[in-house]
Amino acid sequence: MFFATPCHRTGAGDMIVKPLRSIPKEVTLTTGTVAANGSPDRSISSRIVGLISAGVATSRAELARTLGVSPSTVSLHVQELLESGVVTETGAGESRGGRRPRLLQIRDDGGHVLVADLGGTHARVAVISLASEIRMVQEIDVDVAGGPERSLDTIMANWSDLSGPWADSSPLHGAAIGLPGPVDIEAGRVESPARMPGWHSFGVAEYVRDQLGVPVLVDNDVNLMALGEHFAHGAALRHSVTVKAGTGIGCGLIASGQLHRGATGTAGDITHSRVSAAGSTPCSCGKLGCLETIASGAAIVRQLRERGLDVRTTADIVRRAQDAEPEVTSMVRDAGRHLGEVLCTVVNFVNPDAVFLGGALSTLEPFVAMVRSQLYEGCHPLVTQQLLITRTTTGPEAGVVGAGRLILQHVLPERATTP
Ligand SMILES: [Zn+2]
Repeated sequence: MFFATPCHRTGAGDMIVKPLRSIPKEVTLTTGTVAANGSPDRSISSRIVGLISAGVATSRAELARTLGVSPSTVSLHVQELLESGVVTETGAGESRGGRRPRLLQIRDDGGHVLVADLGGTHARVAVISLASEIRMVQEIDVDVAGGPERSLDTIMANWSDLSGPWADSSPLHGAAIGLPGPVDIEAGRVESPARMPGWHSFGVAEYVRDQLGVPVLVDNDVNLMALGEHFAHGAALRHSVTVKAGTGIGCGLIASGQLHRGATGTAGDITHSRVSAAGSTPCSCGKLGCLETIASGAAIVRQLRERGLDVRTTADIVRRAQDAEPEVTSMVRDAGRHLGEVLCTVVNFVNPDAVFLGGALSTLEPFVAMVRSQLYEGCHPLVTQQLLITRTTTGPEAGVVGAGRLILQHVLPERATTP
């Protein structure tokens, strides 16, 4: 589903009319119960809100089936949610033999959340309704090397600008930010980021929360991209691996419909896997021979410069590869082969439904073709039998879409169950 918003602005202030994607829907299979003492279990309200928000169950009968509770219990909770203004009835769905069921959805006029996807030199900031629609999105220049306060102040100033039309009539319920480094989710900060001077252990969530006065969540940018991309492919997808191959390399894993962060939040960090082909090349993490040192955009730039070519950025690589320069194309292909080799282990181990390739290098066919061929050659046939290997479809919006999912999952149930 697509939703047309008034405009889309670039960092230069140009206004571009652009249809924007709604936040994809999520499958959240849970089993609800009525509290042992017979009183209504408020957690059921949270689950109902989650299922309606995800588009997984939008009628009372579907909710009862999915939650495993009686229709009368669902009706009781739905009535509470209707009266509290969290959900609304939108019309009649398809009949399964009896009366056509009334459909439910989250009320769009009930507020908004703010999201940002921060990269090394830019950020995408967006306003998202409680009904999961992107109301406005904008790309702005933000240099993370300028430190956390400056970067976050810039993002918040743009949020204020973007959300202006709704500020009075639509309450702000929360914010989420994707950060380009390892994130301590609980503490809401990045830990030992490679290219973010001044950010180590800075309380990002706390800083923004103090300014906005609402719940704030932070996560790794690739995790959010994985969330956004996974749920863009519908409820049938269960397990997916999303790779971001740009100046750096990142990877996010969705298992059984849930983002898998691991014990310390670094799950999916394939970039610092040691590969023999990298020899003892020093990596930004301080170790030697990481995948990043031979398969990232930064690595290709370094290697081409060592050969005397005038390239400075990953965008230079993309442009010259699109012009089919043999030396650049060959190195892009090598990068795809090295990434594919590491991904083989991941894909054999995880057995996902899909591998999504994002980031600037994934716009290059020689890169994608090499990753794909490595996976087909290096994985067990049962693993690749039905494996979808494709470029990401959410494009530059993947991060803000995922950030929207993250914060809405947090604030909607809270709002629905607040007495
Ligand atoms: Zn490393």
